[in-house]
Amino acid sequence: MTSRREFCASVAAVLAAGPMLGASAPLRSTRARLSLDPWIEVDVGALARNARVIAGLAGNRPVIAVAKNNAYGTGLATTGPLLDALAEVRMLAVVRPEEALALRKAGVRKPILLMGPATEEELLELVPLGVVQSPYRDAAPTLLGRVARRLGRPVPVHLYVDTGMHRMGMPVAEALPWIQALTAGPTPAVTIEGAFTELVEDAEFDRAQASRMRELQAAARATGIAIPMLHAASSEAVQHQTTEAFLDAVRPGLALYGGYVSGQARERADLRPAIALKARVIRVDRLAAGDGVSYHRRWRTDRPVWTATLGVGHVDGYPSGAVKGCEVLLGGTLCPVVGTVSASHTIVALGEETSVKVGDVAVLVGGEHPAVHPNEVAKRAGYSEYDMFMHLSPSIARVVAGARAG
Ligand SMILES: *Cc1c(COP(=O)(O)O)cnc(C)c1O
Repeated sequence: MTSRREFCASVAAVLAAGPMLGASAPLRSTRARLSLDPWIEVDVGALARNARVIAGLAGNRPVIAVAKNNAYGTGLATTGPLLDALAEVRMLAVVRPEEALALRKAGVRKPILLMGPATEEELLELVPLGVVQSPYRDAAPTLLGRVARRLGRPVPVHLYVDTGMHRMGMPVAEALPWIQALTAGPTPAVTIEGAFTELVEDAEFDRAQASRMRELQAAARATGIAIPMLHAASSEAVQHQTTEAFLDAVRPGLALYGGYVSGQARERADLRPAIALKARVIRVDRLAAGDGVSYHRRWRTDRPVWTATLGVGHVDGYPSGAVKGCEVLLGGTLCPVVGTVSASHTIVALGEETSVKVGDVAVLVGGEHPAVHPNEVAKRAGYSEYDMFMHLSPSIARVVAGARAG
């Protein structure tokens, strides 16, 4: 059993461990070290490799890198410039105006596609920053016409077209007259740089959706309007090789960050997780037979066993469901999560003997072992693989790790 003295010693050890953190972990911040625990490592080599793998699967078509939802949890400010530097990446894409602004603020230079609405005031700020708009509403010719007049030039767009998903976009059957309205007159509202749709992720229907885009392109061409570039395929179509849906560019999110849309895609795409969620051991405890852990002593042991408390919990994005069978990598061993994942703490069982000590680094999610792969953690926790990435707390530190060469 842990005495109060041992507990105090644990806390003191963490405080003492602070200045050492930089030695073993690639933490480059000079801020108070404890505020960096837990943290997320963004693996630049993995990002580069995933972009290469995806471009390869897509027949070397350009990649539009989706960076919505805080770049799938990797951090817009951290990952934006890393994506920007990749040769395969033609453009970045986000859903909210503030995400586009954050990418520019972080130094991203490539075009940014805003796949969501913006107000007139936002448009006046975004368009001069090279943020390409995705009109989809009946009102777009009027609104963008006004913005074009105020800016003295047409607004660059990728038309957002609905080919059967019924979520977003201008319904394809109504698109042609609308496109004509957008480009009409001596001072057109827009410059059409492309058009895109969302696939329903059902291979046969996806192919039909891609055909509808080609048909729309041909119909527009017949009226003298060029749509230079079409795109539709997100990670699912790329990973499952729905090649007819690749059109002129692919638009993946999850796969870039190393997530698999489903287990079956694994043989086709050798992706590497671009994130790792890590935290240090803040307390080590020895339980006697019959002792229990966490609220209601939810996990009990029938023999003496060591446990470790990690300073990370569900507020950081580690799923509460991790207690249903997830393991963390600690000192080269996999340790099961026991008791409860609480807001800021996670307890793991270490076994009857241990060399784990306060200050050791645990990998909760990452590429270092198949058991902590984001897909595997999501699966065991009963969580979606998208949530595993996107629900990582924006407030915890992101640090860049891995070799740039990838
Ligand atoms: C999120 C999103 C994507 C990327 O989807 P993944 O499944 O993560 O590859 C592509 N296009 C649009 C419009 C999206 O909203």
